[in-house]
Amino acid sequence: MRLLHWVSESADERPDAVRINDQSVSWVELRRLATAVADDLRGLDRVAVEASTDLATVVGVVGALQAGTAVVPVPPDSGPMERDHILRDSSAEAVLVPAGSQRQGDYLGRPIVPVDLTQRSDSTLPEPDPTGTALILYTSGTTGAPKGVVLSRRAVAACLDGLAAAWGWTPDDLLVHGLPLFHVHGLVLGVLGPLRLGSRLHHVGRPTPERYARANGSLYFGVPTVWSRIAAAPDAARALRSARLLVSGSAALPATVCADLAALTGRRIVERYGMTETLITVSARADGPHRPGTVGLPLPGVRTRVVDERDAPLPADGDTMGELQVCGPTLFDGYLHRPEADAASHTSDGWFRTGDVATVGPDGWHRIVGRAATDLIKSGGYRIGAGEVEDALLTHPGVREAAVVGTPHPDLGQQVTAYVVSDGVPESELVDFVARQLSAHKRPRQVRLVDALPRNALGKVQKSRLAAD
Ligand code: ATP
Ligand code: MG
Repeated sequence: MRLLHWVSESADERPDAVRINDQSVSWVELRRLATAVADDLRGLDRVAVEASTDLATVVGVVGALQAGTAVVPVPPDSGPMERDHILRDSSAEAVLVPAGSQRQGDYLGRPIVPVDLTQRSDSTLPEPDPTGTALILYTSGTTGAPKGVVLSRRAVAACLDGLAAAWGWTPDDLLVHGLPLFHVHGLVLGVLGPLRLGSRLHHVGRPTPERYARANGSLYFGVPTVWSRIAAAPDAARALRSARLLVSGSAALPATVCADLAALTGRRIVERYGMTETLITVSARADGPHRPGTVGLPLPGVRTRVVDERDAPLPADGDTMGELQVCGPTLFDGYLHRPEADAASHTSDGWFRTGDVATVGPDGWHRIVGRAATDLIKSGGYRIGAGEVEDALLTHPGVREAAVVGTPHPDLGQQVTAYVVSDGVPESELVDFVARQLSAHKRPRQVRLVDALPRNALGKVQKSRLAAD
C-alpha cells in the first residue's frame, strides 16, 4: 500500500477533506497540488520544509513524499541558530516554503522552492521504495541539542496502521487538532494519519478551547497543556461531548485534568506514549478499559520490557520501576551522523533505550514514571517519580502548574524540589498539603514559586533548565 494511500487513491472531490485555518482542499485537489511540487523535487534526496501551520506545508510534505524525497521540517518560528543547525546537520538540498513567505532568502543560500497553491500537475508518479526515508525529524530538544531522527516510510506506515487499529480510526472520522507540524504528534499522527487512513482533517490553527469546541470533530488530538485549558473552560469541554475519542500525548497528562475532562465531556481520554525515535509504541484502545494514569498496551508488532541498570528484565508487577526499552516495526533507522548516539541508545540485542522510566502491570498496562534523567528522583535510598508529586500538588485549588525535580542534597543525594505557579499559596502550605497526601519522603523539601515554567513548542516543561537554575 502506498504511504499516503488516501491521497493517492481517493476520487472524492468534496472540498473540505483537509482544512487548515480557513484554507481547505479535496483529496483530488491535494493530489494535483502535491504532484506539481513532486515534479519540482525530482531527484532530490532531502528537502527542508518550512513547517508553518499552513495548507502549503501539507502540500509540500505530500509532494516530497510522492517524489521519494525525505522531508526535514523546520519550525517556522525557529531562530537563525536553530534553523541553520537543522539545515546544516540534515544536508537538506533545498527548502520548500509557502509562496510569498517573508522568510525567503533566510536559508543559508539553499535554493527555495515555493509551494504554490495555484499550480497543478496531473502526472502520475511511481511509488517510492517503502524502505526509503520519509522524514528526518529533530527531537524536541528537551534534554539537549535536537538530534536528527531518520524515519523510514515503512516505520511511519506501521505506526499509523497500529493506531488505526487501536483507536478505531476510519474514513468516517473528522480529526481535529491544533498541533505544530514539525514533530511526530502534529505531522505524523496529525497530518500523515488522515492522509493515509482517509479521515478528514481540520487543523484549527492555535489550539484554543473555543476552536476545539466549535470544530465538531469525532477524534481530537492534544498535548496535556491544551487538555488542561479545555478542562478549565467547562462550556468548551462540554461541547466535546459530540466527539468519539479524545487522545492525549507528548507528555504526561495530569490525573486531575484527566478526571475533570472525563466528567465534563462524558468521554474517555486515551493516552498514548511515544518518542521521535520510536514513533508511537504504546496506547490505550478506544474500545478497551479506561485506566487513568496509564498509557496502555504495546501496539501491534511492538515489544517492550522494563529493565534494571544492567539491562536485565524486571518483573511486570505494576510496581517495579525501570527503564523502558522497546523494539518493533516503528523504530527509527538511526540518528543522522551520530553513530555514538546510535550505539549508546541501543542494547547489543537490538532494543532501543527510551531513557524513560516505567512500570508494567501483570496485565501488560504501562505507566510512564518520567524521564530517567529528570523525573526519577533518588532521595535517601528512595526512588520517587516526579509525576506523582506533581499530581498531588495540582490537586491544590491554588496551584496552576507544577514541575518537580531532584536537586543535590548533602545527606539524601537528591531532594524533592517543586517549582510551582500558584495563586499566592505560601510554600509551607504546599509542603504540608503534599505531606498529607503522600508518604513523608515524597514531600518537597524545597518549593520555589515562579511566574511560569519553561516550556517548548509542544508545551513540555524543560526540566533541565529548571534543574540548572
Ligand atoms: P529530546 O530528545 O530532544 O530531549 P524529547 O524527548 O522531548 O526531546 P520527543 O521525542 O518529542 O522529544 O518526546 C518524547 C518523550 O516525551 C518521551 O521520551 C517521554 O519522556 C515523553 N512522552 C511522550 N508521551 C508521553 C506520555 N503519554 N506520558 C509521559 N511522557 C510522554
Ligand atoms: Mg528524547
